[in-house]
Amino acid sequence: MSPPRVFLASRNAKKIAEMERILREHLPAVQVVGLDDVAAYDEPVEDQPTFEGNALLKARRGFEVTGLPTIADDSGLCVDALNGMPGVLSARWGGPPHPGERDSADLRNNRLLLAQLSDVPDERRGAHFVCAVAFCHPGGEEIVHGRMDGHVIRELRGAGGFGYDVLFVADEHAAQGRTSAELSREEKDAISHRGRALRQLAPIVAGVLRPSGA
Ligand code: IMP
Repeated sequence: MSPPRVFLASRNAKKIAEMERILREHLPAVQVVGLDDVAAYDEPVEDQPTFEGNALLKARRGFEVTGLPTIADDSGLCVDALNGMPGVLSARWGGPPHPGERDSADLRNNRLLLAQLSDVPDERRGAHFVCAVAFCHPGGEEIVHGRMDGHVIRELRGAGGFGYDVLFVADEHAAQGRTSAELSREEKDAISHRGRALRQLAPIVAGVLRPSGA
């Protein structure tokens, strides 16, 4: 019998591996396929004002096109002193590169955030990551959320992770002041917004994919 398959509407190999790892605890044989494993289709523009809206947009489209039970996530960093921004704009906060510029989008985003918070004192540098994950399948759709609280530091630190990890210290690691980019993959998964959301979703996906009676 072929293994149960779920489609993760993402090209991010790290996300696909993470999803597979977490789902395996509930469904040992599950296979997570990504956008690179299915025929190309027009992906929706992420133009919704909420994480939930964008996640649903991507999951609905993936399910409609592939017919496979489909998962999609949307995430970002919400900074208290910026009234919750960059939020859904996190990926493109620093704008497009200037002509000839070689900095990555992550570096542009981090530099801009540091500049915006340069006058903000330590006690007002609170922030949190949010992740919304949508799951669309023949029986309906579900949405789960995860959150990681912490604060934004004043210099880039660490070589792991991605995005704003180099600037973010989670509450769980505040005593040592380690950024999310200084944590092991397992340490980050255990407390991250995405890990928390995916662990809620895993048994729901298992219930949908598992043949009844199995
Ligand atoms: P997406 O949901 O993968 O599109 O992520 C949106 C953006 O939010 C990313 O490009 C990052 O800038 C930021 N982001 C989301 N999750 C994380 C995380 O776990 N660490 C650091 N940055 C993140």
